[in-house]
Amino acid sequence: RAKHSGRSTFSWYTPELDADAQKRKEVEAGLVKAIKFDQFKLLYQPQYSLRDGKLKGYEALIRWDHPTKGTVKPDIFIPIAEDTGLIVEIGTWVLNNACQEAAHWEDKTRRVAVNVSPAQFIAGETQKRVATALRNSGLDPKRLEIEVTESLLISNTDAVIETLREVRDMGVSIAMDDFGTGYSSLSYLSLFPFDKIKIDKTFIQNLGKDASTDAIVTSIVGLGRSLDVIITAEGVETEEQAILLSAAGCDLVQGFMFGRPDSIDSHEANFPAFPLNTSGGLWFPQERT
Ligand code: C2E
Ligand code: MG
Ligand code: MG
Ligand code: MG
Repeated sequence: RAKHSGRSTFSWYTPELDADAQKRKEVEAGLVKAIKFDQFKLLYQPQYSLRDGKLKGYEALIRWDHPTKGTVKPDIFIPIAEDTGLIVEIGTWVLNNACQEAAHWEDKTRRVAVNVSPAQFIAGETQKRVATALRNSGLDPKRLEIEVTESLLISNTDAVIETLREVRDMGVSIAMDDFGTGYSSLSYLSLFPFDKIKIDKTFIQNLGKDASTDAIVTSIVGLGRSLDVIITAEGVETEEQAILLSAAGCDLVQGFMFGRPDSIDSHEANFPAFPLNTSGGLWFPQERT
């Protein structure tokens, strides 16, 4: 196929590219309507402490309630929203709504984590948007956490670090999401003092299966301790993974084992405390030494 040169190659690829471009145009037009007609909602996924077994907070995860396609996941539309710049408006909606909703939660100690794309970092604007969301909701800044990825720090490092610093000065904490999937992770850690590191789920899913993954996770936890950074494991699906993470000294866990992204009401009804283990007993966390 691709070996053919000239027109045949061109005509073989063109319909594919057209279909892709067409699809993206459709999603883009849909997103414009979604903003206008308020078709987004936030689901929340719980984060538990392995130290005391308590629910510490939730990560807000966006969903698009599409009028004909049903619930659309972020992997489908966030990249397109980033490319088209629509992420700025969508991200502002997320920030405002997450703060507003969290301010109304019954338990005022629980934190809310919000994902912020690199494309949302516009010099001078990001700080204002965070400040506005906090002011309008009345949410205690200590309850807000911003999740960013390593890719944010690759470009325009000084301006980004300045922005993160200003946001942090408001009392908001900063988490590095998907840690280990980017590159030069360690140098970025020294450039900016994060409050939290979230170990990417690809590592967690190989825990107990692959000795080098176990060693990497243990090292990240150790790094967190020496840098005084909280370590969260994401994508925890099995009790074995949770036990290994507890033994390694990981602070927080998030994953399907502890709760899927859902509405706050159903979480509060179903998961008031640390879940029971598979044999029906209490799942005692390991003491940290
Ligand atoms: P993320 O921030 O790394 O969020 C974690 C993703 O892992 C979520 O996918 C969550 O549902 C999924 N997950 C959680 N536990 C498990 C598990 O045990 N196993 C597996 N296999 N998956 C698990 P989701 O909700 O589809 O979100 C995907 C990505 O979309 C997020 O990754 C984040 O990068 C982005 N995203 C979500 N909401 C927003 C938003 O409001 N704004 C921005 N800019 N990005 C968002
Ligand atoms: Mg995240
Ligand atoms: Mg992640
Ligand atoms: Mg991600």
